[in-house]
Amino acid sequence: MSASQPAPLRDPVDDDLDLTVDALFRRQGRLAQRLPGYECRAGQRRLAEAVHTAMRRHASLVAEAGTGIGKSLAYLLPATLGRQPVIVSTATRALQDQLVHKDIPLVAHVLARPIRAAPLKGRANYVCLLEYERAARRITHGPRELYTTADDGDTWTQLTAWITAQQAEDGDGDLDQFPRRLAPEVRERVTVDQDSCLGTACRAFKVCFAERARARLKTADVVIVNHALLLLALGLAEQTEGKVALLPSHRVLVLDEAHQLEEMATAVLGVTLTLGRWRWAERRARYLSAELAGHAAQRDCAEALQAVEAAAARAADEAARWLQILVTAMGPRKAARLRPQENLPALHATEQLASTIGQALRTLKQARPLVEVEDLERWRLYQQAVQRLAAELRVVTGGNPTHARYVERVEGGRGLAVHARLIAVAPWLAQHLWTARVPNPADPEPTPHPCTLIATSATLMTGGSFTYWQARVGCPPEVMTLTVPSPFAFATQALLYVPQGREALLPPKIPSGAYLDALTARIEALLEASDGRALVLFTSYRVLGDVVARLTGRLPWLMLVQGALPPAALLRQFRADVHSVLFATRSFWEGVDVVGEALSLVIIDRLPFRSPDDPLWEARCEAVRQAGGDPFSALALPDAALRLKQGFGRLIRHRTDRGVIALLDSRVRVKGYGSFLLRSLPPARLTHELEAVRDFWATPVVSPSDT
Ligand code: SF4
Repeated sequence: MSASQPAPLRDPVDDDLDLTVDALFRRQGRLAQRLPGYECRAGQRRLAEAVHTAMRRHASLVAEAGTGIGKSLAYLLPATLGRQPVIVSTATRALQDQLVHKDIPLVAHVLARPIRAAPLKGRANYVCLLEYERAARRITHGPRELYTTADDGDTWTQLTAWITAQQAEDGDGDLDQFPRRLAPEVRERVTVDQDSCLGTACRAFKVCFAERARARLKTADVVIVNHALLLLALGLAEQTEGKVALLPSHRVLVLDEAHQLEEMATAVLGVTLTLGRWRWAERRARYLSAELAGHAAQRDCAEALQAVEAAAARAADEAARWLQILVTAMGPRKAARLRPQENLPALHATEQLASTIGQALRTLKQARPLVEVEDLERWRLYQQAVQRLAAELRVVTGGNPTHARYVERVEGGRGLAVHARLIAVAPWLAQHLWTARVPNPADPEPTPHPCTLIATSATLMTGGSFTYWQARVGCPPEVMTLTVPSPFAFATQALLYVPQGREALLPPKIPSGAYLDALTARIEALLEASDGRALVLFTSYRVLGDVVARLTGRLPWLMLVQGALPPAALLRQFRADVHSVLFATRSFWEGVDVVGEALSLVIIDRLPFRSPDDPLWEARCEAVRQAGGDPFSALALPDAALRLKQGFGRLIRHRTDRGVIALLDSRVRVKGYGSFLLRSLPPARLTHELEAVRDFWATPVVSPSDT
């Protein structure tokens, strides 16, 4: 994509902004006037003022804003008051949708003027009209190999109607808005990723959904991206020395859910390979060849296409064989480090596939004009994708010391993933994110303008300090910082139960049958006290499975288990059936937002220390050791504190919520580091007695306004 032409930049903040922030957030101010039921929150106002100050100073701000602050409005209002382009990056596509459909309309209503919001997702989220048209043509005139089941056929009919409506109504073509789940094979037929897009050579370019989404960025007041896309954009700007800008010029960049930055940067800046990549290459060869079936009557073309299909099948077979060898070598382990490998047959076969595609391309070029330019371009992009696959395979089997290379079982045991990930992402982020400068072509002087970066989340501090998070993400120590505690009255709304003395639970390194029995009995007793209504969070799938197996048939409430349904469907059921109990692990430690009685108890099975068997974690600990530090205090402890805080954060989501958090790991009381972890949590009342948990629900509710 070519560089976008940004609007000229003006002074970032109107002179009367002080007044305006005050006018918005004070009692009886604009927010109170325009939003029925709005409650003035001192914390929200403090955050808004800090955002404004940071903008005026061209400084960056790191702010921990506790649950219930209303942080979206606190950053969106001052940021948009400046009438300068703003970019907001958040963790997931679902949160992007929430900002677009809920928060921005609210801001527009409060400011009484339109706010042009432009969401941007990865290209593969939008329907590609070119691929769709080709697939539709084949379905109408040829064999229906697109359908893998009767249900997919039904989905295709719905998809066709939806795309037609999107075009007629000037819709986004964003597949997240399509009301049904698409089988991966069908999705693949109607989307392309950045590397397979024909760009300006595409005949659908002018009406392309993804291109229109990008065009809207140029005139947007607020551009809403996700962290993955933001990091990709920064990386692309680096590779092209600023010539290609996915995002428009902006003076303010807000990183919401900033606690996810390190993990997201680790994923985006690294390489992950699964067998699926080779299977895709195999399917793509068959699909592109089938599209040229008519021309394949020409003997040269037919032979060239068959050679590509055979080479693609051979590459996939070699990759499968390689992964099988890795699985066997891993034994029962979940993950293992990968040693540098030379003369790998899978690499040779993948390179061979790229070269066979090149030969086919030369043959197809000679068959012009029978073979159209568009087809040739699609074959060229296919070759590029295979070349990139080979390059990534070289990275994961190479020996660069900046990367940790490892193989890991995919969640749920469905195959393997091979990774090469940066041991430290902080240097890259320090250079490309925190020192971000915005190029301004309208400026007669080529000096870029500084960009205000606002990083915020409910969980950035550990032991009362931002130091750990800042060091992990390359954030300079001199940034402005702010802590805004949650407005919730944790002392009365929440009770923290940690078993001690006779009730103590000390998780062994490898959970024994006796430990699992004791853990299950304690969970059951807690659930009886809460009458269900609980989220039970585990640190491992294995323990989750063991406990669920022991409880099955014993609980009178609906048991919902992660993996049985998609997360959104599980949460819908959990909200709808107030007494249901949800058993979950990793991804449910954050992002679960259930207000009210349905979530009255959160149980955490053990302190969320990372597994020492995680090869990336091991490499990161090793790096700390080599630098003369202690991996436990410098890394493991603050990391666990952040994760524990996230789990805790699921409990109280509203000032009328009340509940118990049960941390079934007595180490937090008997080990020296326990006080550090407890200090990182909201100030709930602490008890060691199960009886006190029973009493908690027996006592009448005291509303915060009564205190
Ligand atoms: S420009 Fe790219 S994404 Fe858009 S329709 Fe063409 S090939 Fe598809």
